[in-house]
Amino acid sequence: MVNFNLNGIPVSSGISIGKAKLLTHALMEVKHYTLDKKEIKNEIKRFNKAITAVKNDLNKIKNNLLKNNQIEFETFINTHLLLLKDKNFSKKPIDIIQDNSCNAEWAIKISLDEVASRFDQISDPYLRERKLDVIQVAERITKYLLGHPGGQIGFHVEPNSILVAHDISPADAIQFKQIKYAGFITEVGGTNSHTAILARSLNIPSIVGSKLAKNIINNDDLVILDGDEGVAIINPNQKILDQYKNKKIAWAIEQKKLQKIKKIVCTSSDGETIKLMANIEDSGDIKSVKDSNADGIGLFRTEFLFMNREDLPNEEEQFQSYKSIVKSMRGREVIIRTLDSGADKMTVADKKETSNPALGLRAIRLCLSEPRLFMTQLRAILRASYFGKIKILIPMISSIQELKQVKLLIERAKLALSKEKIKYDENIEIGGMIEVPAVAINADFFAKELDFLSIGTNDLIQYTLAIDRTDDSVSHLYNSLHPSVLKLMALTINAAKKHNKEVAVCGEMAGDTKLTRLLLAMGLTNFSMHPASILQVKQKILETNIKKIKPLSSKILKSTDSDSIESIINKINL
Ligand code: PEP
Ligand code: MG
Repeated sequence: MVNFNLNGIPVSSGISIGKAKLLTHALMEVKHYTLDKKEIKNEIKRFNKAITAVKNDLNKIKNNLLKNNQIEFETFINTHLLLLKDKNFSKKPIDIIQDNSCNAEWAIKISLDEVASRFDQISDPYLRERKLDVIQVAERITKYLLGHPGGQIGFHVEPNSILVAHDISPADAIQFKQIKYAGFITEVGGTNSHTAILARSLNIPSIVGSKLAKNIINNDDLVILDGDEGVAIINPNQKILDQYKNKKIAWAIEQKKLQKIKKIVCTSSDGETIKLMANIEDSGDIKSVKDSNADGIGLFRTEFLFMNREDLPNEEEQFQSYKSIVKSMRGREVIIRTLDSGADKMTVADKKETSNPALGLRAIRLCLSEPRLFMTQLRAILRASYFGKIKILIPMISSIQELKQVKLLIERAKLALSKEKIKYDENIEIGGMIEVPAVAINADFFAKELDFLSIGTNDLIQYTLAIDRTDDSVSHLYNSLHPSVLKLMALTINAAKKHNKEVAVCGEMAGDTKLTRLLLAMGLTNFSMHPASILQVKQKILETNIKKIKPLSSKILKSTDSDSIESIINKINL
């Protein structure tokens, strides 16, 4: 077997060794052949048998999900079950087999091509995305006919499999929380795309932007994935394999050692206490939050509740979800971010097509344009606030007027609940994500109006440097150490301090140990990150004398280029 290396952008550290599983499209394998008239009856029988088998499979998966309380995926399976009954799957292929005397696989492909092209003409982006469901169902049937059933994305995964895909959407990635892949390799994607963030939150070694990975790697190739170096070694020789096995063991030992500091209060060596909070996507993350002993939840990305489904979650469903999370945190703070839908995190709430999604009707803009949708979420959050310490965080605020509208709607939601005699925390705090440069520039105005601030560096970098965070072709320009990014962060931290308001960083910079001392020197005392990074960051803080490194922050902020900033940071990290 040929041994070779593939490079990519490292997005989630650690080492995995396992067999490659390509996210295949069975439909590409389909061949066309002509049948004798007398074979047609049997071909139709074969087709019907595949449909029944797929139906049974889906029902089995559905029952398993229900047993494991993963109701959020039930809608996804129900959609596939419904599609199976649709005439495009249940009848049309039979007509095609009869009319063209062709094989069943080919009939499905023809039927699918027709349906897919109709989907492409739909202007509603949500409905257009449903094309994926149709393709997945067609693939499932085709795989049965080709003799290798199952194998669809997300299900029936062997342990230690490394998923190789062109791309993984956040909606797909969230499903991988239930399935233990050992690593991800994708051909596209940026360091701070939501897919990369999810890989980090799953603590699974991953690389993105590994061009041609799907062309070069074969199913079942042995792969070493080094998520720190951004390299995948395919079919390694025994010597390399042994080296990496040792490296993997050393990594696991390091992780274990970190457990020793879990219970210690996070205080720098000169006595400053630092708050370490967790970022979560759903209630499934609570276990890792507990394992990390985080001080609370600094960012609950609620948009994941709105993914992989056809209907909007109603007030009751949202309330139950928020309540269960806040109750499980037993008095620790939970910051719930209102729906941050749109751009690369498309959900059922996104309706309008937009030519430039990152700058379009997304996040709070979308919520303000759909007051009913927003009210439903606000009511659910307020109701849950009665059961613990909840704060509301608004994503992508860009003006004071917007903030005023938000506050007005929150007041309305409170008033309505009071009239209905429903209890909530009357003093609930309202914070804003600082991720649009316009807000950081005038952070002083916003710090006055907000109860707390949370710097979303992932988007702040994207919007300051005009770099699409999901695009691997410009990912070399996506730079957290750009002097302008740091200046905007400093403006925000200083404005918050001036107004005596709490300020956190909840973007990926907070979980990067190479940047911990930089942030401490800039005066940050509140970090929010995916739970898997908390203990590593804590270790770094315990070993840091903040007073000693503080003077370096003005030197850093006077630097004109990121190279000199990096060399100062390298020195502080020694
Ligand atoms: C950010 O932009 O930094 C952030 C934390 O939000 P998200 O990554 O969900 O956009
Ligand atoms: Mg953001």
